[in-house]
Formats: sequence, C-alpha cells, structure tokens
Amino acid sequence: ADKFGVPQALKDLGIAEINNGTSTGEDWFGNGEEIASYSPVDGQLIGKVKTTTREDYENVIAAAEKGFKEWRSWPSPQRGEVVRQFNDKLRRLKEPLGKLVSYEMGKSYQEGLGEVQEMIDICDFAVGLSRQLHGLTMHSERPGHRMYEQYHPLGVVGVISAFNFPVAVWSWNTALAWVCGDACIWKGSEKTPLTSVACQNIAARVFKENGVPAGISSLITGDYQVGEFMTKDERVPLISATGSIRMGKIVAQAVAARLGKSLLELGGNNAIIVTPDANIKNTVIGAVFGAVGTCGQRCTSTRRLIVHEEVYDKVKDAIVNAYKQIRIGNPLDENNHVGPLIGTDAVKNYQSALEQVVKEGGNILVEGGVLEGEGYESGCYVKPAIAEARNELKIVQQETFAPVLYLLKYSGDLENAIAIQNGVKQGLSSAIMTNNLREAERFLSVEGSDCGIANVNIGTSGAEIGGAFGGEKETGGGRESGSDAWKVYMRRQTNTINYTTELPLAQGIKFDL
Ligand code: NAD
Repeated sequence: ADKFGVPQALKDLGIAEINNGTSTGEDWFGNGEEIASYSPVDGQLIGKVKTTTREDYENVIAAAEKGFKEWRSWPSPQRGEVVRQFNDKLRRLKEPLGKLVSYEMGKSYQEGLGEVQEMIDICDFAVGLSRQLHGLTMHSERPGHRMYEQYHPLGVVGVISAFNFPVAVWSWNTALAWVCGDACIWKGSEKTPLTSVACQNIAARVFKENGVPAGISSLITGDYQVGEFMTKDERVPLISATGSIRMGKIVAQAVAARLGKSLLELGGNNAIIVTPDANIKNTVIGAVFGAVGTCGQRCTSTRRLIVHEEVYDKVKDAIVNAYKQIRIGNPLDENNHVGPLIGTDAVKNYQSALEQVVKEGGNILVEGGVLEGEGYESGCYVKPAIAEARNELKIVQQETFAPVLYLLKYSGDLENAIAIQNGVKQGLSSAIMTNNLREAERFLSVEGSDCGIANVNIGTSGAEIGGAFGGEKETGGGRESGSDAWKVYMRRQTNTINYTTELPLAQGIKFDL
C-alpha cells in the first residue's frame, strides 16, 4: 500500500485518522459497533468505521425530512450549481478516490479511476438536467382549459449499494436525486465502508459551503439490518437498491408492504453471442475483458459465450490463448490485468462453482485455482477459469460473482442462440458479435434479446452514463443514470386549469343544479 501511495490518498480524502475508529465523517452519524475494513489487495486493515444505531438513524431521517422541506424550494438550476461544485471536487480528488476504490474493493487502479470518471460524468449530466426537468403539455377536451404535467421533488430517497461499484452507484442516484430536489440517505456496502465515508465527506463539505440544509446527503453504515431501517420506513418514499437478486427480493417485498417505490438493480447472467460472421479478434477482446475485468465482479460481467459451431473451435482456441497472457496480482500495479476477489467467502463461492460445473457434466478448459505465496497473502486472488457447459446446468443458470466463463455451443439459426441467451432468469446485459446486418437487427428486435442492455460488436460490460442502465426479469426492472431515469426521483402531477366563467365537465357529462 505504501509503495502505491495509499496512505497519501487517505490523507487527501480526509479519512487518514479513521483507523482508531473514533473519527467520524461530516453529516455522518455512527455510534454503533465498529466494522473493520480489510483490503483484499494485501489483507491489511485500512480502517474502522462505526455503524449506525437505530437512534442515529432517527436523527438522520429527522434531518433529511427537515432539510428536504427547504431544499425542494431551491430553484433546480441552483441545486445543479451545487452538484457542479461537488463535481469540481471530484475532478480534483479523482486519483486518491480511484486509489481508495482500488485498494478497498480490489479492482484495478484504472477501473477505480474509471469509476470516479463515471461519477464526474453523471454530475455533468445532472447539472444540465437541472434546467430540463420537463413535463408535457396536453390539449384539453374542454374549451377554455389547459392541461399540463409537472414534476415535483419526491422526498427522502434511500440508496442501498453493492460493494463492486462502491462509489459510482451512489452518484448515479444522488446526482440526479439532488437536482430533482430530494434528500438522500445512503447505506453503502459493509464491505467498502471507507469509500462511502470519503464520498460523503466530499459532498458534505461542498454542501456546507453552499448553505445547503443539513440532511440532504447522509450516510448510514452497517449491514442489512441498517438497510432495513430504511426499507421498512414509510418516511422514505423511494428505495434504490443495488445488489444480489436475493437481497432484491427481500427489499422489494419490504418496500411494497408499505406501498413505497423501489428501483432495483440486481444480478445479471450476461452473454455474448458469437455468430459465424463475427470478427474473432474483437470478440476475444470483448469477451476476455468482460469475463475477467474487475475479477468477474461486475453486474455486467460476461458469464456465457454462446458460439456458433462453425467458429466454435477457432473462438475457443483464441480465448484459451488469451487467458494465458492474463497477469493476476496487486491491482494498484498497472501491469496487472486482474486483482483479487472481494473476500474469502467470494473465493469459496468461486471454488464451489467450479466443482459444481464439473459435477453437472461441464468440462474445464482453463483451470482455476486460488493463488498463494508472495503478493497473494490476502488469500483473495484466483485464476480466471473457463468451462465448456450447457445452458441448462444449474450452475450456469446462476450468477457466480467471480471470473468463471461458460462456453456454450449453438448450431443452426440465430434464433437458437437467442433462445439460449434469453433462457435464464436474469436480464441485464447482452451482446452479439457479427458483421451481418440481418443478425444484428434480429438480435435487437422484439424477437431478440430480452435484456435491459443489448449491444452489437462490443461486449456486455461497461456502460456509458448517457443511457438508462438496468435490466429486466430478476435483474429487477429498475433504470438509473441517463435518458429519462430521473423521473423516478420525482412525483408527477397532472394539472388542469379552467380559465372560463363556466364549469364544463369531462366526457361531456351534464350535471345541472
Ligand atoms: P448484496 O446483495 O450482498 O448487498 C448489496 C447491498 O444490500 C449491501 O449494502 C447490503 O448491506 C444490502 N442488503 C442486503 N440485504 C438487505 C436487506 N435485507 N435489506 C436492506 N439492505 C440489504 O450484494 P453484493 O455482494 O454487495 O454485490 C454483488 C451483487 O450486486 C451481484 O449480484 C451484482 O450483480 C449486483 N449488482 C447489480 C448492479 C446493477 O446495476 N444491476 C450493479 C452492481 C452490483
């Protein structure tokens, strides 16, 4: 860590003193037990963070509700100006924050920087959006009437996020929700508490400088129980939850029980279809990055490669060869492609998936295994593996959050590949590699991919903030980030105004008194 400047990054982010468990962030309440954050990179303790008690939570929600009443009346471009200043700070702190993301979560430094860049991009988007919170106008069926719709701030938004994108997911939600006039309470992952504190500190400072009321950005820390404070709380009209399908099912039911809204961003089981017309070189780049990038811990990671029998052997050989070039090691060292998994439980899941695929009749093409020895002391480094399998296997139907790629063969028409691609419960990201226009268009058509994201001639992973991000089926149906995803953070109101001296009724109904 010293060699890669992690201590300086912690200082730059204002969280260097967090080690003794006494430092608290700004606008961040924690009087509960401590959670320790160990780096999967080298197994070292980075710092301890106090968790949020029920009483702390009551203070947070009271501040958020009070702050919201004032914040909602700020003109939205002024709220945008605060987000612009927050973004300025992010730009200045991109390197230390990217480094902390890499060190605490384990993704490569390049990907850590990329994640902060996503925060910067969504803030830029949100600043522009602050002048474009448009509704429609409609023509009334009644003479002398005008109809229009407007979007008002929603209230307190609860954001629950996963470990693998410890900073970007927060900003995808909050940058939009803030310009929409909401107060946000964030429960980050208990596996990455320090990145959460670092982000909250940056926001809190900018907000104070601008006289933003307290409680517009708050952080609560802890495990699922702290998350439940919000999911069961009717004072939180929207819960945006990112994580596993298991979590999503519990959260969705808790929120629905009080008729709240939820925005769910859950697991994927993403595939690339490789047709006989594919460019093999690009296929290999897209598939390998998709399968091993972030050590297979992206919701959009490539899990399945569905290859036509005509090109199957060629693609197989090229991918197996490419895997031989992969360098696994400290993600802060830019020579390495693949860092560690988040923890030893994740390593166990990875191992059991490899055992299971063999038990179910799969054939291992590239052996996996846990790495030991110098540089691998944390016990979290594993070898990316490939298995030949069939889509029906139970293990292939699941999302294993690790670098395990399944090679599936199809024959005949593209519709057979699409059936395999769609033949899972998840529906996040999908791709086709082909130079054949007909195939590409069929893949994107109503009879094609059933996922929220469908790409042509790029892989499944890595999305831009300009589009709406999310997936169908068990992925949860939520959409975040670009396009019109902002609408979920507001409440829509339809207004009909009568500017005549009469009171005509709709549908021509007569009601004479
Ligand atoms: P996880 O489900 O274990 O935890 C996610 C978050 O939910 C954590 O903050 C956790 O404390 C909280 N949580 C868990 N149970 C809860 C409950 N009952 N009530 C309230 N909060 C609860 O997921 P993880 O291991 O951190 O992340 C990996 C998963 O996230 C993968 O399945 C991945 O595909 C998914 N993911 C999806 C997206 C997306 O946009 N679709 C993005 C990133 C990650």
